[in-house]
Amino acid sequence: MINETRLLDTFLALVRTDSPSGEEATIAQELAARLRSLGLTVELDDMSNIVARLTGQGDPLLLAAHMDTAMPGYGVKPVVKEGVVYSDGTTILGADDKSGIAVILEVLQTIVEGELPHPPLEVVITVQEETGLVGAKSLDKSRLRARMGISLDTGGAPATIIVAAPSHNFVSAVVHGKASHAGARPEEGINAIVVAAQALVDMPLGRIDEETTANIGLVKGGVARNVIPDCVELLGEARSRQLAKLEAQTARMVEALQAAARRHGATVDVEVTRAYDGYTLTETDVTVGQLMAACRAAGVEPVLMPSGGGSDANIYNAYGMQVVNLSTGMCKEHSTEEYVAVADMVTCAEIVMKCIGSLS
Ligand SMILES: [Zn+2]
Repeated sequence: MINETRLLDTFLALVRTDSPSGEEATIAQELAARLRSLGLTVELDDMSNIVARLTGQGDPLLLAAHMDTAMPGYGVKPVVKEGVVYSDGTTILGADDKSGIAVILEVLQTIVEGELPHPPLEVVITVQEETGLVGAKSLDKSRLRARMGISLDTGGAPATIIVAAPSHNFVSAVVHGKASHAGARPEEGINAIVVAAQALVDMPLGRIDEETTANIGLVKGGVARNVIPDCVELLGEARSRQLAKLEAQTARMVEALQAAARRHGATVDVEVTRAYDGYTLTETDVTVGQLMAACRAAGVEPVLMPSGGGSDANIYNAYGMQVVNLSTGMCKEHSTEEYVAVADMVTCAEIVMKCIGSLS
């Protein structure tokens, strides 16, 4: 059913079009044109998020992907070697998430050409996923009619289904010490870098448990060798698939900062914001069950997995939809070694076709 050559051609054309986060206007127009030529109605919002619809019978199904890519992502030159697509090694490939878009386009083309029965299909392709799910967050989700959906934005073996993803807190802090000349009046200073260092040593970071992680990823402070630094900024995060664990870990990070500040006579301003909410689905949820059956119908045994990262699926699930993330076969995404096997994209498309077939 799936046309492998056409799918590959589509994928190659997509990765050759630059679309780093925030610079999606060109590819958005290209995608809108492709979707219109397949008979879908297409709407673009102010950010260039695409919502496209193919009318059909029954309960609508969401097919989701994102059009922006990670960096370095300018001038991608795809190289096909023995059925696997790589970049030339100087950039990412952009299989994240153009493999997802290519699969969606191939599925639509197969349905339209074959005049195959299908439920109403709602195709949403967002912008700025990589910079914090910005497009999906700002998308007017009241426009969406689908209650269930498949997001095509994860990697791994074909038929890998992501059924759970963490909630994510941003933890930002500014430590305020006291500036003083390091040689003339060191006793009058409070070294904010030392306070921050103390807090970092006392803070549990890295893998906290199987579903909880934490990191401080950026530390910025100080002005000169001979000045006791009065200010240090820290940017960090915590994630967990259990909300209680997320709150406990976040509290430990805040407490470590406050305790270190108290000990040294410094102060600290800490800001905690929720980047996005997590979700957990199981085999008993309709969408998961449908997709598992579709995998088996396509001849692949499904593998249900939790994820340590968020994606647009977090936003859709938080909105009350039931959306699972299905592997497109992409590997080593966010690196210049990124690759995807054409056969795995084909398998992904066949699974989506089986799912659509079972719903019509
Ligand atoms: Zn992605």
